[in-house]
Amino acid sequence: MPDEAYADPPEDEQTATAAPLAALVLVSTPIGNLGDISSRARDALAGSDLILCEDTRHSARLLAAIGATARTEPLHDFNEEARIAPVLAMLRAGRRIALISDAGTPLVSDPGYRLVRAAIAAGIPVGAIPGPNAAVMALVLSGLPPQPFLFLGFPPPRSAARRAAFGTLRAAERAGLTATLIWHEAPHRLAETLADMAFSFGPRAAAVARELTKHFEEVRRGTLTELAAFYASNQARGEITVLVGPPEEDDQEDLDGALTRALATHSVKDAAALVSAATGLPRKIVYARALEIGRAADN
Ligand code: SAM
Repeated sequence: MPDEAYADPPEDEQTATAAPLAALVLVSTPIGNLGDISSRARDALAGSDLILCEDTRHSARLLAAIGATARTEPLHDFNEEARIAPVLAMLRAGRRIALISDAGTPLVSDPGYRLVRAAIAAGIPVGAIPGPNAAVMALVLSGLPPQPFLFLGFPPPRSAARRAAFGTLRAAERAGLTATLIWHEAPHRLAETLADMAFSFGPRAAAVARELTKHFEEVRRGTLTELAAFYASNQARGEITVLVGPPEEDDQEDLDGALTRALATHSVKDAAALVSAATGLPRKIVYARALEIGRAADN
């Protein structure tokens, strides 16, 4: 007889008998619509001795709405390391602990990874209640290829670092990476980030997903150039996820185009530095080509 746990389940199985709750449970919560909390999430939160929250005040509303009365404690980026030992001690003493973040799936652009890693290393069972996740919802609504996808969290807040990060991705694409790229972004930075993306990735297919699951949910699709132009004159509001499609076969690296645009407002040296960072191409090659374009324009 095969081990029951490894036996093939019946084909129609959507079991109502859930996996037993692990000691530490990562519970996904809504990303804007309370209706998206699952019944397993409610049960896990109701059955916990302690709920670790990214922000206890923020989560108090959700927990009150679902009638969860367990004690809450904060677990955020600034105290996570210090909280690991006491939390592991509670888990070893048999306490059931749930971890939630302000929204969506904990650990994804949210705290908890260090605690999970430590619990696994200590041999403590870790489980998860799956649920809402902004990146995956945005991906399936974007109309862009769903796999492979690469989730990158928030881009760097400053333009120079952002362009360098996009340049690294362009270099990876030149080496064969072909994936839909996904980022979170703050509304006040969206326009400048899209402009930097258009500079680095060119006019390829992209999407901006806003306020998913909420009243003003919107997915705007277009080329990066179109989206950058739209948000340059329309202030974005709400919570935003940005997606950029993979390079297309005819999406040749337009070094000359990028250099010509940069040379319109920068010296040869600065234009070469800018384009090298944004495209991930070696600075020497870009500088040599910038000199040629500059000379041709002078003649
Ligand atoms: N853990 C969350 C998840 O699973 O989706 C992500 C947390 S991250 C700190 C928060 C960012 O996710 C927001 O700044 C925004 O970029 C994106 N986001 C969250 N909710 C969203 C929504 N309803 N619509 C679009 N993007 C959202």
